[in-house]
Amino acid sequence: MIRSVYGDIKKEDLGVTMCHEHFIVDLSIVRKDDESKIETIEEVVPEIKKMMDLGAQSAIEVTTNDMYRDVKKLKEISEITKLNIVAATGFYLSEYHPDWLTNATAEEIADVMVKDLTEGIDGTDIKAGVIGEIASSKDSFVGQEKKVLIASAIAHTKTGAAVTTHTGKFTAIETIETLINNGVTPDKIVIGHQDLIDDTDYHLNILKYGVNIGFDTCGKVSYQLDETRAKNIIKIIEAGYGDHVMLSNDISRRTYFTTYGKFGYTAVLGRVVPMLKEYGCSQENIKKLLVDNPARIFNNDRW
Ligand SMILES: [Zn+2]
Repeated sequence: MIRSVYGDIKKEDLGVTMCHEHFIVDLSIVRKDDESKIETIEEVVPEIKKMMDLGAQSAIEVTTNDMYRDVKKLKEISEITKLNIVAATGFYLSEYHPDWLTNATAEEIADVMVKDLTEGIDGTDIKAGVIGEIASSKDSFVGQEKKVLIASAIAHTKTGAAVTTHTGKFTAIETIETLINNGVTPDKIVIGHQDLIDDTDYHLNILKYGVNIGFDTCGKVSYQLDETRAKNIIKIIEAGYGDHVMLSNDISRRTYFTTYGKFGYTAVLGRVVPMLKEYGCSQENIKKLLVDNPARIFNNDRW
């Protein structure tokens, strides 16, 4: 089953899925700006509806415990829009970490994640369905980030939940090897933000481990052209790894919304998928990226 904020659903019912989104999130405390705070349902629902008009049915909402995750609001959004939303448990980059992580053991951090996954979050009965987005800093693991990663592996072995990450070029292999060495099934690992790296050899080197990668910052064209994202996806599919890529938009600033003239949550279905078709990607392979891969990876036989 797949554990959504509205209860467990069959993997067949997940449908077209964005693998890495934020609907209610607040990164403004660290970023010191107001645009990194998306806190009202009224603001985000019209943006989500635009994504749903293009065919989206589900989203993995990877806002962690230290990004001001709000599962009650996520459940309300799910009720209003009928979008399936999977909530997350975990901790983000070092500068967002709560102080208690410093002296906590990996086992103690894992206990928090397991509770979120099996009992409920913040005193509710709304459960997390994924561990993430577990982060490493740009060049290396900083502060408690490595311990949190090990904790996420422990929480995976106790629950079977998938682990999804925020990872750059310099920490990807260390992230994968740490998770696998601590007992995580490779196919339950999603290495996020890999579309920011324009290097297919690098992607294939990661995919050889049997893990999955997120092309999950679609529409952020100041970092990477969507045309480059689409072309790299095709190269990965041609190399035989079409079963291990998923797509998303990763909106963490309201200024990426369509009301600000950007693509919001519509970049995957409104831009990248049409480009894939234009470049000759088959409907079957597009369905893998959007439907089959998320259903397999986020499904948990133990639920
Ligand atoms: Zn993210």
